Amino acid sequence: MDTNLPFSDKPRVVIVGCGFGGLQLAKDLANAPVQVVVVDRNNYHNFQPLLYQVATGALEADSIAYPVRKIFSGQRNFFFRLADVTGVESTTNTLHTSVGEIRYDYLVLATGSLTNFFGIESIERNAMQIKSIPNALNLRSFIFQNFEKALLTADPVERQALMNIVVVGGGPTGVEISGSLAEMRKHVLPKDYPELDLGQMQIFLVEAGPALLGPMSPASQADASRYLDELGVQVRLGTSVKRFEDSKAYYSDTEFIPTENLIWAAGVNGAALPGLPDAVVTRNKRVTVNPWNQVEGLANVFAIGDVANLVTADMPKGLPMLAPVAQQQASLLAKNLVRLTKGEAPQPFEYTNKGVMAIVSRNKAVVDLPKGVHFNGIFGWATWLFVHLMTLVGFRNKVVAFVDWAFSYFSSDQALRLIIRPFKRRDMRDDQGKRTAEHLTATADYNPGPPAIQEA
Ligand SMILES: Cc1cc2nc3c(=O)[nH]c(=O)nc-3n(C[C@H](O)[C@H](O)[C@H](O)COP(=O)(O)OP(=O)(O)OC[C@H]3O[C@@H](n4cnc5c(N)ncnc54)[C@H](O)[C@@H]3O)c2cc1C
Repeated sequence: MDTNLPFSDKPRVVIVGCGFGGLQLAKDLANAPVQVVVVDRNNYHNFQPLLYQVATGALEADSIAYPVRKIFSGQRNFFFRLADVTGVESTTNTLHTSVGEIRYDYLVLATGSLTNFFGIESIERNAMQIKSIPNALNLRSFIFQNFEKALLTADPVERQALMNIVVVGGGPTGVEISGSLAEMRKHVLPKDYPELDLGQMQIFLVEAGPALLGPMSPASQADASRYLDELGVQVRLGTSVKRFEDSKAYYSDTEFIPTENLIWAAGVNGAALPGLPDAVVTRNKRVTVNPWNQVEGLANVFAIGDVANLVTADMPKGLPMLAPVAQQQASLLAKNLVRLTKGEAPQPFEYTNKGVMAIVSRNKAVVDLPKGVHFNGIFGWATWLFVHLMTLVGFRNKVVAFVDWAFSYFSSDQALRLIIRPFKRRDMRDDQGKRTAEHLTATADYNPGPPAIQEA
């Protein structure tokens, strides 16, 4: 079954994933002499950098997502299929999906990344993650559900665990969510829960490395630590959470932080698909590509963005997993695919670093620009807001996000704290775990090679 895609006399480029890379590539191929087929398990593009704001009630989910079909309405060479891709069969140029098989002339993997639990089963089972919109909404509900429970218990130890939050991973996501939770503790929770002593609520940010914001400048690292300290976040550097069970986050065999709420932001793996040759899939499940993003040994298969492992002289561990890397690789690949259809040589990729930033709370953000330029405080915060507002997809989303932010800023409140879909931990080990199991079952009969993700 070819999933009813129309016949075309032009080569078919199938793109798996409509995240930052896939979206950019499909747009840039609008006028190319190819048929573009995008396959994604969601019918929307998800603006991941703002997920933590959905989780903490600062933004509604709809303002960071945009329907794929709406983005491409009017692009005549574009076709979309809502499906989970379960594997690649490069010998027959076939993609296996949950809705049937799709034949390709060129295949581009833009599948992004998945949370890496480092094989720690208790954490994978019990921790909250923040990689998707359902994750963010679950996290938001779970925190408020636990506050409702905290009101009901007479046991002070249980109450403490229900109110404490432990964030693991001191990268931008961990820093941003910790800062946002601290603001929630200061401005929102006292209004909603006057019966609880919010002074008891502790927010921990636990990082295994020696500093927060590892890839950023020492100045940004120091600023972020200071901001978090001012907000009352307890930062524990050089500390690893090894186990999370019975409402205890263990950082050694016997020492633990009592908490029901552990947010795991400690790392990601590439989302390599089953069926690729073993030799091209790295230990952290990225796909090794050459300088023009072609998968090693497969002439018509490419990978871009988080899933692509492109090693350069100054980045021996591969380019960073950042939205601009995915977008820049997509734009070059669009040109290279046209070159290939004309029999011309492709051009190598060069990453242009336009800067990195992280926000901690209102009026507090850190920004590193190329050539060692660093700034912080309210100027950094305004820059962060402006860049994120401008890069959100869709005019409505920009307006809604702006209004939500302005409301929060002037009222010191966050309107979004409904428990619409109560989260039950036992119902959902996590989105990722369920999908992995589906992947493994769906691909069992055609020798898919190693699973993309190790089951814990
Ligand atoms: C919480 C958070 C905050 C971040 N903050 C920043 C930031 O501030 N700045 C920055 O530059 N980067 C940030 N990032 C990283 C950035 O989001 C990624 O680098 C970027 O999304 C990578 O783009 P991509 O196209 O490779 O993958 P993604 O954007 O992840 O898109 C992958 C797409 O593939 C689809 N997909 C995956 N597997 C399948 C399958 N088997 N079948 C069907 N569809 C599939 C997914 O549904 C998704 O739509 C953040 C990430 C997170 C999680």
